[in-house]
Amino acid sequence: MNETDVVIVGAGPTGLACGIELKRRGVSAVLFDKGCVVNSLYYYPTNMVFFTTPELLEIGDIPMTAMGEKPVRNEALKYYRRVADHYQLDIRQYTHVDGISGEDGAFITRTTDHNGCHQSWRSRKAILATGYYDRPNMLGIPGEDLPKVIHYYKEPHPYFNHDVAVIGGKNSAAITALELFWTGARVTLIHRRQTLSDSIKYWIRPNIENRIKSGEIKAYLNSTVREILPTSIIVDTPDRELSLPNDFVFAMTGYRPDTEFLAAHGITFDEETRRPYTHPETLESARKGLYLAGVLVAGMHTNEIFIENGRFHGRQIADAIAGELRRSPHGGG
Ligand code: NAP
Repeated sequence: MNETDVVIVGAGPTGLACGIELKRRGVSAVLFDKGCVVNSLYYYPTNMVFFTTPELLEIGDIPMTAMGEKPVRNEALKYYRRVADHYQLDIRQYTHVDGISGEDGAFITRTTDHNGCHQSWRSRKAILATGYYDRPNMLGIPGEDLPKVIHYYKEPHPYFNHDVAVIGGKNSAAITALELFWTGARVTLIHRRQTLSDSIKYWIRPNIENRIKSGEIKAYLNSTVREILPTSIIVDTPDRELSLPNDFVFAMTGYRPDTEFLAAHGITFDEETRRPYTHPETLESARKGLYLAGVLVAGMHTNEIFIENGRFHGRQIADAIAGELRRSPHGGG
């Protein structure tokens, strides 16, 4: 049996921040990620430019730089690799956490690595920092399981000279529609509301609105896709049902945390908001000794916590854990 003070599930910016802050307080931690370090960022669109300036993505007091006003994906990947390296964090990449049993002071985390090798880790505390990018919001319509339906947009090139539909009305939908249009795809945007969202960034919004106004991107508002077929989609518009030729569907419908994993680990939620109950200062969940960090704290309200504010959870949790371990150096909780 392996041992550490704290097991951290997820090696995104928030998980890394937790690892750093624990290390600074003399508490040992092992981080597990089913993918690579900052796996979600790795899967972000290749040409992604962050909405925020570099200093707001910093963790561990390591300055981040960027060529432009806002960092791009590759700069962020390099930055977080360097930070992980600098702090010599113990990160087990491509290692899936199968479950965490036991109780405060004596948790057992079972893992499986990419070679199928199983391990067990005993820890005093555990932190879940698994983000929300693994679970797309599904449309729940026939044909959604066709291979042409994409929930993670990467690059526009493969869709040149194809009929593509983009579903959604916020930032990802707007950016995806624009990049595809610029690359020579025939783009139809379908959004269930009357207008595109006000949350679309001010430097993106006029661009998408003008492409729609000019007819270069065809938009169906107040409309929903009812069915996806191999070469077409059926769209319900306010006027009538349409059948549109279609090669690819980009369902830019957002993502949600893996609440099933949380529930299976004894974490309880507010019925209405699906927000897990957490202590406001320590971020300890309803399961004693198990802490939640980053966007998980917001439940389904994923637009409330970003890297910019989730990165501070590391300090809150590390203060709480270090304090508890000092008070009770050998026993449980
Ligand atoms: P999002 O903000 O959650 O928006 C999802 C869109 O899909 C909304 O318009 C929503 O409709 C629609 N939708 C959800 N479920 C649907 C369904 N079943 N049927 C039809 N439409 C559905 O997702 P996102 O745009 O991917 O953004 C996710 C997060 O990433 C946000 O925090 C965003 O700011 C961030 N982001 C950052 C960057 C960047 O830094 N460069 C780029 C893109 C996104 P409603 O409008 O009705 O809710």
